[in-house]
Amino acid sequence: MRPETLSVHVGNEADPATGAVAPPIHLATTFRHGPSGERVAGYEYQREGNPTNDRLREALAALEGGEDAATFASGMAAMTGLLECLPNGARVLIPDDCYTGLRMLCAEYLPERGIEAVAVDMGGLDAVRAACAGGVALLWIETPSNPLMKVSDLAALAEIGRAAGAVVVADNTFATPLLQRPLSLGADVVMHSTTKYFGGHSDVLGGALVFARRGELSQKVAHRLHITGATLAPFSAWLTLRGCRSLGARIAMHCANARRVAEFLAAHPAIERVNWPGLPSHPGHAIAARQMRDFGGMMSIQLRGGREAALAMAGRLRVFTNATSLGGCESLIEHRASVEGPHPRSPQNLLRMSVGLEHVEDLIEDLRQALG
Ligand SMILES: *Cc1c(COP(=O)(O)O)cnc(C)c1O
Repeated sequence: MRPETLSVHVGNEADPATGAVAPPIHLATTFRHGPSGERVAGYEYQREGNPTNDRLREALAALEGGEDAATFASGMAAMTGLLECLPNGARVLIPDDCYTGLRMLCAEYLPERGIEAVAVDMGGLDAVRAACAGGVALLWIETPSNPLMKVSDLAALAEIGRAAGAVVVADNTFATPLLQRPLSLGADVVMHSTTKYFGGHSDVLGGALVFARRGELSQKVAHRLHITGATLAPFSAWLTLRGCRSLGARIAMHCANARRVAEFLAAHPAIERVNWPGLPSHPGHAIAARQMRDFGGMMSIQLRGGREAALAMAGRLRVFTNATSLGGCESLIEHRASVEGPHPRSPQNLLRMSVGLEHVEDLIEDLRQALG
C-alpha cells in the first residue's frame, strides 16, 4: 500500500472490543496479571509498553518501512535513547548543519563519556570517507538540514557509513516518510521528532526511532527506554496517531504552499537567497529530486539587508507567527541566530520558515507587505 493509505489505516484499525472506528486511549498505568506474574494480554506496566503506544509504533514502522519502532516523550529523548546505547569512547559523525539540540547534546553530554562527535559537511562524500577512517560507531544524517536546508545523499552516505561499520541514522523530521524513506536507501535507524509534522497541530510533544531490523540494537534501545523511563504518554501517542491520519493530505498542501512561497521570495529583490531544495537553483536539488517525492514545507531565506532587514521583516508579518518549532497548520517564522544562545551558528540575515496550511495567497500577501 502507498504511504497515504498506510498513514490513514495502520495503527488506526477499529477497536476489536467495540467496533469504534477511532482507536481507544488506554490510560492504565498497570495491567492485571496472574498470581505468578502471567500477563493477560502482553502488558504489565505503562512505562514498559501500552496498547495506545503500540498502535503508534506499528504505524511509524509501517510508514518508514522498518521492522520495529520505539516511541519517546520527545524527539530529544529519542535521540538520547539512541546515543546512550553507544559504548564509552566511541566516535560519532554529525552534520555541520543540524538541529541545535543534537549539537548541544554532543557538546555538553557526550564528552563526559569519552565520546567524540565530529562535525562534517555531509555533502562532501570524500570528507565523510576520510572522517570515517578514524573509526566511527555512528553516522548521523539530517537531510534537508536545519536551518540551511542542505541536502545530503542518503544512499551514498549509508553505504559509506555501513562500510565503516557504523550505525547509520537519519533524522527524518523535516521530510517525513511521506516524502523520503531513509531505511529503503540503506539507513539502519530513522529518528523523528513527532512533535512536528506527525502531530501536525503544535499541541503534542513526542519522538521516535524506527529500526530497519528488529534485533540487538532495537532491543537494547527498548530495554533502556523501559528502565530510564522517557516513555511517551498514551494521550500523546493517541494525538500523534490522530495526526497520522491526515499526514498525507497535510504534507501535500505544505509542499504546494512552500513551492509558491519559495518562487515568490526567490524573485523578490530584497531576498538574497532562498534555501528550499525544490528550487532548481538549490545546490542539492538534483539529489533531493532523486530521493524525495516532493520538497517539504520547510525553508530558510537570507535577506540582502542583513540582520536589521531580517528582524524588520519578521516583525511586520501578520499571518506568519514568530515562534520556534515547525510542522503545524499555522505558518511560523524565526530569526534563528536570536534563539541559538550565546554562540549562534545561523547567518544573521537568515529567517527559518515553516510554511503552513493557510491559503497561499494570504501567505504571499503577508510576505509582500512585510518586505515593504
Ligand atoms: C524539533 C526537532 C528535534 C527535537 O525534537 P523535540 O520533539 O523538540 O524534542 C530533533 N530534530 C529535528 C530536525 C527537529 O526539528
